[in-house]
Amino acid sequence: MPNSPILVIYTGGTLGMVPSDTGLVPGHDFEARLRAALTTLSSTGQVSLPEFEVLEYPDPIDSSAATPADWQRLARDIAERYEDAHKRYAGFVVLHGTDTLAWTASSLAFQLQGLDRAVIVTGSQLPLEGDGSDALTNVESALRFAALPGLQEVAVCFAGKLMRGVCTRKWNTQAFDGFTSPNYPLLGEMVNGAPVLYAAQGLNDRRDLSQFELPDYSALDGSAVVRVTLWPGISARLLAAWLLDDSVNGALLEVWGSGNIPEDPKILDVLAQATSEGKLLAAISQCPHGPVSIGTYAAGRGLIDAGVLSGDAMTPEAAMTKLVHLIAQPLSDSERRQRFVTALAGER
Ligand code: ASP
Repeated sequence: MPNSPILVIYTGGTLGMVPSDTGLVPGHDFEARLRAALTTLSSTGQVSLPEFEVLEYPDPIDSSAATPADWQRLARDIAERYEDAHKRYAGFVVLHGTDTLAWTASSLAFQLQGLDRAVIVTGSQLPLEGDGSDALTNVESALRFAALPGLQEVAVCFAGKLMRGVCTRKWNTQAFDGFTSPNYPLLGEMVNGAPVLYAAQGLNDRRDLSQFELPDYSALDGSAVVRVTLWPGISARLLAAWLLDDSVNGALLEVWGSGNIPEDPKILDVLAQATSEGKLLAAISQCPHGPVSIGTYAAGRGLIDAGVLSGDAMTPEAAMTKLVHLIAQPLSDSERRQRFVTALAGER
């Protein structure tokens, strides 16, 4: 659909921030500011941009304040417009703070399974009007990628790299090349000012169109799942305080290497008790690269016996948001466990 515009959703983040007495704060009037900034692009850059409309949140935030309710609001805003019979958007660009961008991108991937268009999430390390800012380049690249019909998933575009949203992590607090996809190849790149897709990496043929699951979700509850990173000397007592709390329904354990935990029977008892109470427990590695392969070492065998699921090579952001989403759905314990170990959005 050559005439369908892209919808740009501005949620806040450094990209739209302005200085204040207390430091940078989310700015308003974003559409006017963005359109003014785009006039500074070269004439070739300007004519290559797709048409776009802007949905500007009236309450833009620093993404460090984002909660699962914000992920859900964003997915609903996209889904409503995605399904609008009178107006078709060719794709979506979400402008977001970088701090929790990877979390939102991961959550969107689970909420919007079965997308037949692109949802590109981007932000920047410097504000749009800042000297030498990366903001305009990131928005320009995101718009160009969002217009490509061959891209049918949630992706993060940053510093010219296009990454699967649910495989992405913020990796640098300051460098423009601030995001990485530790365990999955790039989906594309800007090459000589043009967006290039690496089609073989895309989800297109592997996505399940029947899996558009958004309507099934009750309110996402971020406090129902805890994230516990092991440290040498961790005690069963502290682990129990987190995992056996009545309000906790799931936990992500960040374990050693390829899937190992301390040899402490009391720790295994806590894990087994939590799973026997129907809590969804999963393990990923503290190493940023590579999967867990639980059971390779005797020191990891207990995780299997305690019913802890393998998170494979998922990022913490993907594994946590997947747990949060599965717990919010009307599923039996066994369906939840089955879905956790199944790739739903290219996350594993
Ligand atoms: N604190 C900002 C945010 O996440 C950082 C950024 O956007 O780069 O909203």
